[in-house]
Amino acid sequence: MTIIAALKKRNPKHSLVIFLFSLLLIILMDETGGEFSLFYPLIYLPVVFAIVLGNIEYIIGLGIFLSLTTLFILHPHNQIGNYTLNDISQCLSVLLISLIGGIYNLYFQRERQRLQHTVQEQEALLNASQIINSCDKLKYAMNSVLLLLRTFVPDLQGMAVYLMEESRQCLELAVQSGIGDPDKMLRWIEMDSEKRKWTPPEGEPFYYSDCKSMDMGHPARIDTLAGSSVCVGINSLNASIGMIYVSVQHEKGFTKSQISLLQAFADRVGFPLQKIRLQEQLEGMAYMDDMTGLENFRSFRLHLYDEIHRAERYKHPLSLVILDLDGFKGVNDRYGHPSGDRLLSEIGSIIRRSVRQIDIPVRYGGEEFAILCPETSLDDAVKVAERVRNSVENSRFRLIDDEICTITLSGGVSSYPECSNNADHLIQSADDALYEAKKKGKNQVSIAQINRY
Ligand code: GH3
Ligand code: MG
Ligand code: MG
Repeated sequence: MTIIAALKKRNPKHSLVIFLFSLLLIILMDETGGEFSLFYPLIYLPVVFAIVLGNIEYIIGLGIFLSLTTLFILHPHNQIGNYTLNDISQCLSVLLISLIGGIYNLYFQRERQRLQHTVQEQEALLNASQIINSCDKLKYAMNSVLLLLRTFVPDLQGMAVYLMEESRQCLELAVQSGIGDPDKMLRWIEMDSEKRKWTPPEGEPFYYSDCKSMDMGHPARIDTLAGSSVCVGINSLNASIGMIYVSVQHEKGFTKSQISLLQAFADRVGFPLQKIRLQEQLEGMAYMDDMTGLENFRSFRLHLYDEIHRAERYKHPLSLVILDLDGFKGVNDRYGHPSGDRLLSEIGSIIRRSVRQIDIPVRYGGEEFAILCPETSLDDAVKVAERVRNSVENSRFRLIDDEICTITLSGGVSSYPECSNNADHLIQSADDALYEAKKKGKNQVSIAQINRY
């Protein structure tokens, strides 16, 4: 590269001043005796300035310019073949110093860039945790996480955040963006010890460089179209609170530094996310059931009146499922009340995982649960109830060591406007249907009578 190009490329002001200074110096030396000038040792000075202020091309370019000038202008025997060893060694020394200086400068610039990069990353991480800290709702914080992820790894395609569920049995999908086929993605990731091998709630991030070679249902394939993906755990005060999943469509799509940056990001947002989550839980405590993590009866009433109004206005159906555990008293008698409480908590978790995202599952009271199903016909609500009944029937619980127990439940389903014409009657008719299911032998779902109001 020529000196002019180098001048244009970088530090043009400094480069120009150094070049003009070199010219002045050469003129001064030439006028005051060439190689015998008092100023001759200053020939190295522009090179030193260039090493400090320029780039490698400029330094070497200036070195060549100065060494040739030394040879052809400042030495009196300016005829090829007449040069002494001293002339040539002086010329070479300028060249050598500029070469060594250029290499040092290159190394120094790289180190500086690396440091600048690290500082920028740290600033971005700090900025990210400030943004999350400034969110007052978990929903906004989650969306901010998705937006921020792209600032760290710009070409991300799929992104999802999972949060640890109340019972700590599984991770639940909180938000997603850009997932190829959102209908097929995992809403729940079980935390049992077998599968824990591939989810990183604690410890190192997991990098899947070739997702297509893995089975469907594996967390690497949360985005079914992913070529490669990364899962990083979100922790707060050494406890796992969730997981971030990111994917790109091509294989081997992540570098080591990107993965550690994602982990650093997850580490920074863990605490603020948990803080917002706890704040929301505190605010919602009056409407939450501690034992199951589901909403409580008070909240159910509010949802019910709300949804009935919406159903009336938009002429949508609204269905209600009421569920009651079969022979639960026997569980308390056999395993003790605290074990009964644990079972209720696990049933709450199963119900949450068996319903659709639009459904509103609540603990109705005691060992009864309800599921409000907005925009859902009677038939579809029966499917929801059956799915829950099935999941509970097929679950195994370890309430005391060395003993596995099972339980069933019965359900009553009613629907507005098919079976009832107001909120209270909707409850009453679902309750009647539940009574029917119990009477018919339990572990089944009954339907309210149609148009009996
Ligand atoms: P059925 O099949 O007819 O529904 O019989 P059941 O035993 O389930 O129903 P029953 O109404 O006779 O008893 C309900 C039991 O649920 C009695 C009560 O002590 C228990 N229960 C209610 N709330 C709780 C709770 O919060 N924790 C525990 N451990 N038990 C509870
Ligand atoms: Mg009961
Ligand atoms: Mg019962």
